Amino acid sequence: MQKITIAIDGYSSTGKSTIAKQLAKALNYIYVDTGAMYRAVTLYALRKNFVGKDDDLDALVQDLPMIHLEFVPNKELGISEMYLNGQNVEKEIRTMDVSRQVSKVATIPEVRYKLVEMQQQMGKGQGLVMDGRDIGTVVFPNAELKIFMTASANARATRRYKELLDRGEIVSYEEVLENVQKRDFIDSTREVSPLKKAADAIVFDNSHMGLEEQFERVYDCALGVIKSNS
Ligand code: C5P
Repeated sequence: MQKITIAIDGYSSTGKSTIAKQLAKALNYIYVDTGAMYRAVTLYALRKNFVGKDDDLDALVQDLPMIHLEFVPNKELGISEMYLNGQNVEKEIRTMDVSRQVSKVATIPEVRYKLVEMQQQMGKGQGLVMDGRDIGTVVFPNAELKIFMTASANARATRRYKELLDRGEIVSYEEVLENVQKRDFIDSTREVSPLKKAADAIVFDNSHMGLEEQFERVYDCALGVIKSNS
């Protein structure tokens, strides 16, 4: 059967990566979490003090050739993990420290050009599920299936808050809600490849939808598109 490219975009904490991972597994496709790439560049910037108290985004741009990102499969967990300059940073990139800075880093055109180019090389000619903010609009504008995920800010903040607590982070619900809303605002209003629904994307509002139902709907959609392309 013909393999297709599936682009999943949407607001922060809409569960894009959960659905994308499940879908890739069910279809035996490659999964790429592009948010992890922006997060890893942000972690690098934090470690070098290029963001935080005083921002020096020019210094980060200068250092871009020194930032090496790689997804390395973890066979035990059955997922790929993000490595920054040879070090596994999968846990560190999910912290609130990184979440607070990542959308600012993602506005930098040079950062976007570098990461978009890498993303376009990944899974070329293979079945691919990629999630992010600009996959259906910029990275793969010709993707055969585009999904745009949304949910109320409260539903999203509640999910993210639980996730962070499960990982042992001490955060307040209000802080998480504010971060989700702030990231949405920066992501949707930046000049280079802002977050927006591609004209041909299918919208999924999962404010009141369980994971199973969501997955079934997206999977059915994908099978339909795969069949019609075969
Ligand atoms: O998907 P995740 O929430 O991990 O993404 C973190 C941040 O990375 C987003 O809020 C956004 O600022 C940025 N991002 C982006 N373009 C992508 C993926 C993520 O700008 N394709």
